[in-house]
Amino acid sequence: MKKNKIEKMHEHILVVEDDTAIRDSIHECFERQGFPVSSVASAEEAIEIIKSKDIHILITDIMLPGKNGLQLTHEIKKDYDIDVIVMTGYSENYSYEEAIHKGASDFVFKPFRFEELVLRLKRVLKERRLTKERNRILSKLENLAITDGLTKLYNLRHFYHLLEIEIDRCSRYGHPLALLLMDIDNFKIYNDTYGHLEGDKVLIRLGQIITSCLRTMDSAFRYGGEEFTIILPETTAEEAKNVAHRIKTVVEYEHFLPEPGNPIRITVSTGVTEYTNKEPLSTFIKRADQAMYLSKEKGRNTISFLFAENS
Ligand code: GH3
Ligand code: MG
Ligand code: MG
Ligand code: MG
Repeated sequence: MKKNKIEKMHEHILVVEDDTAIRDSIHECFERQGFPVSSVASAEEAIEIIKSKDIHILITDIMLPGKNGLQLTHEIKKDYDIDVIVMTGYSENYSYEEAIHKGASDFVFKPFRFEELVLRLKRVLKERRLTKERNRILSKLENLAITDGLTKLYNLRHFYHLLEIEIDRCSRYGHPLALLLMDIDNFKIYNDTYGHLEGDKVLIRLGQIITSCLRTMDSAFRYGGEEFTIILPETTAEEAKNVAHRIKTVVEYEHFLPEPGNPIRITVSTGVTEYTNKEPLSTFIKRADQAMYLSKEKGRNTISFLFAENS
């Protein structure tokens, strides 16, 4: 970019200053720097603007008619992601610590040179952008850590984590909690016949089908190679059976094309169970697994229940 060309900034700046001459010159200075800028004379007007506009940086005088700049800072930091630079005269009795404590990102004494204010603003913006980028990467990493790479469903680690939370909730409030375990029938033959890559496409599609059949409160996981689990909070085994039927039916109708002109259908065997009597997590999962194996024994493409022996 050419040096004399004004860089277009995305962050919107709001200037709060009751001295008209200072306010106008700050406004003009930031506009020249390429920032979208608004300016007002009081904290009350500033709050109205913040409610209606997306403001990113607030530059406020401390001494204002009505609410002062530190009160304004404290108030908006509670509800908005706005960085604040406060301005104060040397003669006024406000300290840097006080401003930072109220949530300000920087502090500048009046009278200041505009170069200083612009430099401070640019430093605050740089930190703001770095923080946003770091948070974006962190949340991406957090998502990666709980996601199965192939199907994009949650992974086994997250399954145990979430199941523990749901068991705890269900034990505390006495709500029902159901678990589905689903295994593709004769999947080894499919892989051996059409190859692993074609098998992977089935796993991906099955993940999409399962997700499309769930309610918002349900969560689906890739439990192992070709096995999937679904946690259904606030759900009895009877209601979970309906979800299992929905998935079974959609899977039955789905065509896979591992070879041109050769549509293949697959089926799944499902185990359904309901949480009982403060039992350990492992007992709960084992019963869902046993229920799934019952479906295999019954000839596959079937849904089976198993209730706890002492329920
Ligand atoms: P059953 O009806 O008894 O479940 O028979 P099956 O052939 O599905 O069961 P088995 O446990 O014998 O084989 C599971 C097969 O799943 C083995 C392997 O070929 C396949 N599989 C497991 N993980 C993956 C994977 O990540 N990708 C692909 N393509 N196949 C997988
Ligand atoms: Mg003032
Ligand atoms: Mg299996
Ligand atoms: Mg299988």
